[in-house]
This record gives sequence, structure tokens and C-alpha cells, in this order.
Amino acid sequence: MKKTLENIKKLLTFLVKDDFKYYDRVKEPDRALLIMLQKIKPYLSGKRLAFIEKAEMFLKNYDRFPEEKRKRLLKELHSVFVLKFSYKEIERELSKRKSEKLVSSFVSEFHESSEKYPLKAFLQPPETIKGLGKQSVSRLRKLGLDTILDVLFYVPFRYEDRTSITPMNLLRDGETVLVKGKVAGVVETNTRKGKKLLKVVLYDRHGKVTLLFLRPRVFGFYKKLFSRAKELGREVVAYGKVKRRGLSFTIIHPEVEIFEENKKSYSKVGVVLPVYHLAEGLKQNLVRKDVSFVVKKALPRFPEYLPDEVVDKRNLPEISRALWEVHFPSSSVEELEEFRAPCQRRLIYDEFFLFQTALALVRRRIKDEKGISFPVSEEMLDEFKKHLPFSLTGAQDRVLREIFEDMKSDRPMNRLIQGDVGSGKTVVAAGAAYLAVKSGYQVAVMAPTEILANQHFKKFKEFFSRFGIPVGLLTGSMTPKARATSLKAVKTGYFGVVIGTHALIQEKVSFKNLGLVIIDEQHRFGVKQRAELKNKGNRPDILVMTATPIPRTLALTAYGDLDVSVIDEMPRGRKPVKTKIVFDDEMEKVVAFLKKELSAGNRAYIVYPLVEESEKMELKAATDMFHFWSGKLKGFSVGLLHGRMKQHEKDSVMEKFKSGEFQVLVSTTVVEVGVDVPEATVMVIEHAERFGLAQLHQLRGRVGRSSRQSYCFLITRRTVGEDAIRRLKVLEATTDGFKVAEADLAFRGPGELMGTRQSGIGEFKIADLRRDFDVLKMAREDAFELVNRNPELTGLDDLKEYIKYRFKGNEEFIEIA
Ligand code: ADP
Ligand code: MG
Repeated sequence: MKKTLENIKKLLTFLVKDDFKYYDRVKEPDRALLIMLQKIKPYLSGKRLAFIEKAEMFLKNYDRFPEEKRKRLLKELHSVFVLKFSYKEIERELSKRKSEKLVSSFVSEFHESSEKYPLKAFLQPPETIKGLGKQSVSRLRKLGLDTILDVLFYVPFRYEDRTSITPMNLLRDGETVLVKGKVAGVVETNTRKGKKLLKVVLYDRHGKVTLLFLRPRVFGFYKKLFSRAKELGREVVAYGKVKRRGLSFTIIHPEVEIFEENKKSYSKVGVVLPVYHLAEGLKQNLVRKDVSFVVKKALPRFPEYLPDEVVDKRNLPEISRALWEVHFPSSSVEELEEFRAPCQRRLIYDEFFLFQTALALVRRRIKDEKGISFPVSEEMLDEFKKHLPFSLTGAQDRVLREIFEDMKSDRPMNRLIQGDVGSGKTVVAAGAAYLAVKSGYQVAVMAPTEILANQHFKKFKEFFSRFGIPVGLLTGSMTPKARATSLKAVKTGYFGVVIGTHALIQEKVSFKNLGLVIIDEQHRFGVKQRAELKNKGNRPDILVMTATPIPRTLALTAYGDLDVSVIDEMPRGRKPVKTKIVFDDEMEKVVAFLKKELSAGNRAYIVYPLVEESEKMELKAATDMFHFWSGKLKGFSVGLLHGRMKQHEKDSVMEKFKSGEFQVLVSTTVVEVGVDVPEATVMVIEHAERFGLAQLHQLRGRVGRSSRQSYCFLITRRTVGEDAIRRLKVLEATTDGFKVAEADLAFRGPGELMGTRQSGIGEFKIADLRRDFDVLKMAREDAFELVNRNPELTGLDDLKEYIKYRFKGNEEFIEIA
């Protein structure tokens, strides 16, 4: 800690020295600082701790700050560290904390009736527990367990069954077993090479086994143990890995114990043992010893943080009891391995409950805020609909009405529109934008790719020009001059609607009066980015659109802080896309089919996955593919689109495909989201097996956008394997995005579906969204009910404390704490 503290000061001093002369020499100072801050944090409390937490927040967002701001904040960090972080003082405070009676009086046996301490007491470092050795402390640190609470919740990842005894006639080479038998003999001998050896033979009714000890230092101990057992005629249990030598079996260095019926205390054999994740250089035995020491001392004092009603209603074991069981299990290994043991169910419930409570609090806080009350009217709504080239579907109409009500109210809107690809989300967004602009506010529309931003720009521009409302564009690839003009038009309020990419959330962009933020294809944006855009206005309303077929089940956690509207109806006259798996040796059939469709005036996409992430490979793959298809489709015009092209090149290719100049578009997955060319009726996907189901569904969604029949061909190899074919068959069988998503979930698991982009807050340690969905539903219901009833969580200090601890470092949630 002393060293780390010095290093922090050194680094900061170097950075600010001579007016940041060496600033550019340090790569990613934010990372280095963050790591070091983590290290000293457990030793701090009070103001210093609060300061470190603030500093962490700054460092985590370091990349987003402009340089002047970084320097300003680094300077501040530097001066505070030099002034307030003296090692001596910190040490003095620490020793004061250590001696608090609270901790030294931890007991070491489990009594449910023990007097409980506040949860806060468990946020101290493990070394505050009396009797925990220095080495134990450093081992726990190595595992990242900085507080007592961390240790208590360091749940084993599996269990070792040392309860069922293997009869000695059933021993097999290489198996790890527990045997029980009487001692036949104990001898000390030499190996042929002259090494010393202690040999013990055990026998049961079925056979015998030899135990070998090779380290002379332990001979005395074992000789005594086995001789005593032999004299008394007592049985011995031994645990270890069996080796076969000819016809006999041996176990080298087993763990042994004299068997006692009804023995209660914790021992190494005859029990189910927890197995913990290790860090480099650590041994399971020692970690088990350390964890169990802390658990025994601290757990009996650990308070129940859930409200009594919840514990009673769901019939949950008390938390201290549950954790005890997790570390010292009495359940069967089968039950534990399937996560059915009551103690595990309780921990799973808690993970969901904490998360959902935090969400409920965030949501409540947002709802309590005063937002804009737009002066919208029925007439505006009618006016908008009158100008559309088609009439809205029932679902679109319903969702637009929900948005209308949200905007009218003075609560800020936080609404997610979920609708399958092609269900017509854009026009609903345009409706919301219309209402906002007519009410005198600006609207920002953010899209995940430039292609999509351009597409929206054109659509919105065309539509809004009828009303004389200027629509602007702001993307990263604009020339500085065009950009400056756009920025100005945003600032003066000339643009009623601004469409853009990430560029929209940059610091330089400021609005005159931003009232509504629309985010398309939300799964591409994190929670944080949403928050940033929000901060550009005075609590603007937020509308998020997604076609990510995150199943409803997952949406509960992924979008827990949003109200959800679902467009569950396709525009009239849409025909489901006919989908077919085709093997690559039948490609000529596809070519013939394509020719027929193209001759009839339709357009086609041909998409293939990136084989390799490198630039060269991508370029080569793209051009090869392009030549291949141009050759096959002589007489038709073929365009090429890939990620390495310049933005204006991409735009012009897209434009030509839209206008029909190109009839075929050979492309990488840049067309995956949002692209809308209704004349396209054929989607050919090469190497379909390399895509995820959700992605394939998105790609397929590029066709079937008119009343014409559309087709999708999933090209793959015959040798691709059963699993892959089974996956692709899902797409043949359904065009319903939610069904595809459910299947995807079953194939891949929720972690991957939500992706790392989902900000990580939905990650659970032992809960599994698929396996434990029933628990999630209960926990969500309970959490929302609790927050409704008791929004301040009055009388639930431990719960509050725990939520704070669990979500530290997460800005969205930290605010509520
Ligand atoms: P997505 O929900 O995938 O974003 P879009 O908003 O791009 O879908 O709409 C898909 C296509 O359907 C667009 O060409 C759009 O003009 C058209 N569309 C949307 N709503 C209707 C409707 N009610 N009737 C007919 N066509 C519609
Ligand atoms: Mg869309």
C-alpha cells in the first residue's frame, strides 16, 4: 500500500510536471491510475474514500474528455494526493479502525440467534478479523477479496463429493475416490532406487488398497495415526487419486482421517467440500482454509438485509444460513451442481432482487423528475397521419398514441419501441419528432451507422420539407466546413430535426432547445451513451427503438429502466420471406433463380461474413466475391459495399442500389441493420453457418419490405455438421423475430446475446437467466412492489448499503445511492 501510494504520486507528478511537458510520454495513464487506486482503496475510509470514488469515475470516462479537461482534473488529482494522502496518517486511521470492538468480537460458530451487526461492518478489509494471518490476508487480496463481504460472497464454483465411499473392489485407475477400511499394516521401506517410503495397507470387505507417503517429514505423524487406528480397531477414511500397479491399487499422499460416526465438525473427508476459483500461485487447500476462517468468524453476525415480508413470502432461508450452507454444504452434490439447493436459490434470488431494486429506483427517480410537457394536440396527430403515403397499422397507431401521452405529461419519457425488422418503427419515430417540432422543440435522432444515419436523413428531410421544417445531418465523415455549418444550425435552433451518429454526443454539439432524443437500434448504444445524449437538453424525452430480437424474457433485465411498447404487427400485404438452406454445390440453382428475379425488375443482396479481421483480407474477400458474382450475373449491374470503403463511396453505392442503377449489391454485413430498400426481394447469405441466428434474422429483414414475395437463401457446406443445420433450420421454420431470439438464446446462452455492449450491469455471478427465469420474475415483482411501497427504502439501511456496494462504479446506479 505504501509503495502503491508512492507510485501514484510519482506518476501524477510526472504527468503535471513543467506544465504537462511529459504528458504525451505516458500511454493510458488512466488505466495505470485506476489499477493503483483499486489497490489502495480497501485501506481508505471517509473523505479519502469518497475522493477516490470520484477520481475513479473521472478515470473511467477519461477517453471521452477533451485534453484540457483531462489536464485540469489530473492537476487536481495531483494536488489532493500530495496534500491529503500521507501514508502515516492513513495507517494511523487504519489501526484505529482495526481496534473497533465490532469486529474483534466475531464469533466462530454458527448460531442463528447471534447478535447481528450492520452490513457496513462487513465492508472493512478481512484483516480486521482477529486471528487471520498475514499470509491469509495476502492470499485473499490476490483473489480480489478486499472486504469481509467479498469473502462471504466468494461462492464456490463447484463441489467435491467426499461423502460416498467406493468399495475397494470397484477401484479404477485414475479415479479420485473416498475409501474406508481397517489398517492391515504399516511399514517403512525403501524403493529400488533407495528412496524412503511409508506404506500403509487398508482393507474392507471387498478388497484392499495401498496408501503411499513419500515425504519422510510426515512419516512420524502418519505412523502414529495409523498405528493408533490399528490398535483400537478403528476404521480410516482416505481420499485421493487411485493408481493401478499390476493387480493392486495405490493412492499416493491421500488425505486421511480416523472415521467417526456422527462427527459434526468440519473435516476434509466424509463431507462435501467447496472448490473455489484460484489465482495464480494459490492452493485450493489454503484458500479453503482462509475463506472458511473468515466465514466462520463473520457470518453468524451477518444481518438479513432483505425485508422480512419478502423472506417470508418467498420462503427463503435467512442470508447468513444460506451463505453458511454454500461454504459448508449439507446438501447432496447433485442438488448443488444443478443449483437446486435452497441456499443457492436464495443467492440467485438476491442477485436478481438487488438488480431489479436498483432498476426500480432508477426508474422511479426518472419518473419523479419533471420533464417537458409538450403542448401536443389531437389535431397535430391527425395532421401528421394525413401526410403519410400509407395508413398506420393498428400497432403503430397504438404505440404512437402511447408516445403522445408520454409527451403530453410532464414526466420525462423513457420509452423503448420494440418491433421486428420491417414492422415500421421509423414512421412512428417520425411521428414523435413531428409532435416535438410542432411544439417548438428540437429533435435529435441517433443511428448506429453512417449508412443508416444517411438513410434516415433522406427520409426525414423529404417528409419534413412538406411542413417547412429544416432537417440537418451530423456525422463523423463530414468535411470540417460542412460540420461547422451544421453545428451552428443546431445551436441556433435552425434545424428542427438533427440526424447523426455518435458524432451527436460529442461535447462540441449544443442545442438551442433539445426536447426529444430518438435512438435507433438501441442495442448498439450503451446505457451511458444514452445518458450523455440526454444531458444535452433539459431532461428531454427519450425514445429508443430496437429490432434486436432480445426476447421479452431478457428485455426485463436489459431494458429494466424503460417503458416498453411493442409493434407486433407488420404493415398490410407483407408476405413472410421464404427461406431455404442451400448447399454450396447447388449454387447454380441460386444463380438461375437470381437471374429470373432480376429480370422481373427486383433487386438482390449477396452478403458474406468477414473471414478475417485484417484489412487486406477483407479487401481481398470483398473483391473476389464481387468478381465471382459479376461473372455469374453477366448482363446485370452489380455493386460492391464493404467496411473499408470511404464513407462517401459507401453512400454513393447505397444510393445507386436504392435508385436501381445497381440491381445487385454484394456486401459485407454493413447492411445488417436498418437499411431499407423495398424493391429488394432476394437475400443470399454466404457461409450462413458463421452468423448468429439473430444476425441472420436482421439480414433477412432487409427483404420482404413490400408486398412482393421475397426470398432468403442460406448458403452453407454439406460438411458443416448437424448442429449448424439445426440452427439454420430455425430460420426456415419461422420469420418471427421473437421465436428466432428464443431459439438463439437456447443455443448460445444469454451472456452472448446481451453482449458486452450491454454495459455489464446485467451480469450475474451465480444466477443464470435461462435456468432461473422463474426466480427473476419473482424477484422483479417483489423489487418493484417494494420500491412502490417504500421508495426511500426506509428502515432498510442494510439493503441500501448492499445495493451501493454491489453497483459501485456504475454511474447510473450510483446516483441513487
Ligand atoms: P423497421 O421497423 O425495420 O425499422 P422501417 O421503419 O424501415 O422498418 O419500415 C419498413 C418499410 O415499411 C419502410 O419502407 C416503410 O416505409 C414501410 N412502412 C412502414 N409502415 C408502413 C405501413 N403502415 N404501411 C405500409 N408500409 C409501411
Ligand atoms: Mg429501422
